[in-house]
Amino acid sequence: MKLEKLDHIGIAVESLDTSLPIWEGVLGLPCHGTEEVAEQKVRTSFFPVGDSEVELLESTDPEGPIGKFIANKGQGVHHLAFRVDDIDAALAELKAKGVRLIDEKPRYGAGGARIAFIHPKATGGVLIEISERR
Ligand code: ZN
Repeated sequence: MKLEKLDHIGIAVESLDTSLPIWEGVLGLPCHGTEEVAEQKVRTSFFPVGDSEVELLESTDPEGPIGKFIANKGQGVHHLAFRVDDIDAALAELKAKGVRLIDEKPRYGAGGARIAFIHPKATGGVLIEISERR
């Protein structure tokens, strides 16, 4: 498995309406779009930074993954996402190594990417997403 780059940093926020002006105003990063990912029960806004992006995640359902994260830990960094060229091969390699995964199969994320999460218990507490985007 070859990680090509840090694709994005996912940050859990209580409200995009509150957080958007912070990233646009305080940090001067223009938002390049907001999208609802129903499967993940989130609305996401993307802020490109050089070759990577910041992804703000607002929960649309308290029982969704971001809703639960914020209830337990509050707002903050949620995951790091690395770009891979072939997510099927990457998942097969991780499975062969016995790495604990949240997603055995890729699912669809924002921007039409195919994504999968590695369990934070396998990575010392950091939630890692791998992402294939064409
Ligand atoms: Zn992500």
